[in-house]
Amino acid sequence: AKKYVFEKQFVGLPKATDLKLVEEELPPLKDGEFLSEAVYLSVDPYMRAYAPRLTLGTTFIGSQVAKVTESKNPKFPVGKYIVGEFGWRTHTVSNGQPLLSGFPVAWLVPDLDGLPQSLPLGVLGMPGNTAYFGFLELCKPKAGETVAVSGAAGAVGSLVGQIAKIKGCKVIGIAGSDEKGKWLVDELKFDKFLNYKDTDFDKKLAAAAPNGIDCYFDNVGGELSTKILNKMNLFGRISVCGAISGYNDATAARASPVQPALVFKQLKMEGFIVHRWLDRWFEGIQQNKQWIKEGKLKYRETVTEGFDKMFDAFVDMLQGGNTGKAIVKV
Ligand code: NDP
Repeated sequence: AKKYVFEKQFVGLPKATDLKLVEEELPPLKDGEFLSEAVYLSVDPYMRAYAPRLTLGTTFIGSQVAKVTESKNPKFPVGKYIVGEFGWRTHTVSNGQPLLSGFPVAWLVPDLDGLPQSLPLGVLGMPGNTAYFGFLELCKPKAGETVAVSGAAGAVGSLVGQIAKIKGCKVIGIAGSDEKGKWLVDELKFDKFLNYKDTDFDKKLAAAAPNGIDCYFDNVGGELSTKILNKMNLFGRISVCGAISGYNDATAARASPVQPALVFKQLKMEGFIVHRWLDRWFEGIQQNKQWIKEGKLKYRETVTEGFDKMFDAFVDMLQGGNTGKAIVKV
């Protein structure tokens, strides 16, 4: 068995030496325990964002789709696929007990109706539910409204834009490369794409939203979000999902003089953590699966092969190397 130990606190962009890949021998199973083997692992921005709160010397955090290979727990029989909050490790002995937060440490992969086994890490899992609940519950979009989404070509953002289209909104997606933009407009049917790295971004934003913006799903924070807030319509709603522009750059996170726009436009801005909707978890998964089946929700994955490439996949994702969900296949 192999795992990554959190060795050194990240400063700026994580360095390979901040995590250490180690071998470990797992103990034999006790009653109530099961052994599972990772098949797909997730790399997510929250791993960078939560790092300052993690204890050095522990296994680095993360979820995985794993196969149960031995079991002394009837809830997790041999051969079943599970989603486990086990961290960056190839093999895990677990008793399936919930984490301190109440979040289940492992649950059986829901019926995927033939869809890929990796989807519980993306559209049929946490990122899918982040888009579904975080957008619909906080932005409360109405047909005909204009919705802007940043981080638009990523795991969460690409779904938010499509859900907004399903709800009859006009969607402006913002991401960091024109190639990503082509996917958003040509395949996902976003109405407009803006590259936040364009030098004339401000002009293009004004042209893309002649009637202003009613809902903003914010994945990135910082200066870009300030610009969007200033284009919001009266009584606009902002769902603050993440602030990735500041995760590796503490100075960027502070550069958010948004208060004037919030006040004058009487905006409603609310942050959330997706686990708020734990009691409705499978509703989100079910609905997203239904939309996939109906051809209304498309997904993409950027897959890196090899457990020893976890770190590379993580840093690549933080720098925009992924389109859709970034995952690692063992
Ligand atoms: P993504 O798949 O979107 O991957 C991260 C993307 O962020 C990159 O591909 C990159 O795309 C973009 N990015 C990186 N640096 C910057 C920057 N400086 N400015 C703008 N964009 C940048 O990740 P997820 O979909 O998994 O997560 C998206 C956001 O949602 C994150 O902020 C994350 O923390 C948050 N989140 C929050 C949850 C919650 O419960 N509140 C749950 C899940 C995610 P590009 O090429 O466009 O730059």
